[in-house]
Amino acid sequence: MTKDLAEFARAKNVKYFMISYTDLFGGQRAKLVPAQAIADMQKDGAGFAGFATWLDLTPAHPDMLAVPDASSVIQLPWKPDVAWVAATCVMDDKLVDQAPRNTLKRVIEEAARDGMHVKTGIEAEFFLISPDGSAISDQYDTASKPCYDQQAVMRRYDVIAEICDHMLELGWGPYQNDHEDANGQFEMNWTFDHALATADKHSFFKFMVKSIAEKHGLRATFMPKPFQGLTGNGCHAHISVWDETGKTNVFADKSEELGLSAKGKNFLGGIMKHASALAAITNPTVNSYKRINAPRTISGATWAPNTVTWTGNNRTHMVRVPGPGRFELRLPDGAANPYLLQAVIIAAGLDGIRSKADPGKRYDIDMYQLGHTVTDAPKLPLNLLDALREFDNDKSLKTALGEEFSSAYLKLKQQEWNSYASHFTQWERDHTLDI
Ligand code: ADP
Ligand code: MG
Ligand code: MG
Ligand code: MG
Ligand code: MG
Repeated sequence: MTKDLAEFARAKNVKYFMISYTDLFGGQRAKLVPAQAIADMQKDGAGFAGFATWLDLTPAHPDMLAVPDASSVIQLPWKPDVAWVAATCVMDDKLVDQAPRNTLKRVIEEAARDGMHVKTGIEAEFFLISPDGSAISDQYDTASKPCYDQQAVMRRYDVIAEICDHMLELGWGPYQNDHEDANGQFEMNWTFDHALATADKHSFFKFMVKSIAEKHGLRATFMPKPFQGLTGNGCHAHISVWDETGKTNVFADKSEELGLSAKGKNFLGGIMKHASALAAITNPTVNSYKRINAPRTISGATWAPNTVTWTGNNRTHMVRVPGPGRFELRLPDGAANPYLLQAVIIAAGLDGIRSKADPGKRYDIDMYQLGHTVTDAPKLPLNLLDALREFDNDKSLKTALGEEFSSAYLKLKQQEWNSYASHFTQWERDHTLDI
């Protein structure tokens, strides 16, 4: 594991370090620091005006220092002069509790106290679109069922293979790439890891995909529902919990229903119990609610949930148990903050384990056809405001994520909702002008 960044720079011919932190809205903020200056920065951190990014701070706050976490350093495979390094945000010699990576680390430590080590894999779907953002970039990608389209994925081979080559080089264990269910949409999969490592990889993946797409004259978007009528960008999370040795999956139990242990069921119970509240984090934008609760797409299905239900290997529910020893949460979307996504899953799951939560009845029906027959499961929030209210009312989830984080997040997201709500739309004129 890398300890000394100056040494790393000498060994790898790195000229600049990108000291990076992620704000509450998932924005990645960085300073480019020449290798000659990295030794001091590694000790003291790089200074930022936190208020200038999406954190609940004022212009009068002192400098926020982003101290590189050397264990996360990655030399950019497409620009080896530069190395990216995730930072720990500190102010007045104290950790900034609302900084998402700090929030995640705190929740991970809390779970570790109970002997739980969460490992996760994510599926960060994205679209390749025109640079101005108005349309998908491949004019021939028009099939009504474009999933796994062989011809269309090959037309984007140069982009997809370049990204996958980089993941191979980084040792992430990528294992498949495909054209997804919407025109212009792709998915690339790599091997699961500890939650913090997955969150760092998730952040870096978004940065890498956008960078490589731009290099090819395109633009990549992870926006939850960029095009009306087309399947949106999900960010499914696969979850298992391991013991201290990291070798025993405590979610695996062949003798139990679907091979999911009693602990796994309790963790799932926590996810089910907090689902409507955690949607405020897994589905954090106004646009997120156009992906879940959406009418059927051109391809025939949205592949996104609208109700809090779980099942076996069936993709029409919020939670799927695809095989023994893990489950898949299909709720999160491409706008989810990589760190908060992991943090809220662990916080809800840990509460489930501690309270021995029951995930409730398992439904093995096609939810898209028969969802109306399920009367005892909550509907997911219909919009961001709904979700924020659910989160605000969920005291135990807010406490588990930290009071400072939770109030900062709610405050800034409420402001975002207010900004949206005060925006006048053409729809209003169309439906109200002649009333
Ligand atoms: P699907 O499209 O069927 O949902 P993918 O193959 O696209 O599945 O993604 C599965 C993800 O789950 C990958 O990131 C994979 O590494 C991860 N995964 C597999 N097993 C586990 C496990 N035991 N714990 C956590 N994640 C896992
Ligand atoms: Mg200045
Ligand atoms: Mg997948
Ligand atoms: Mg997918
Ligand atoms: Mg999936």
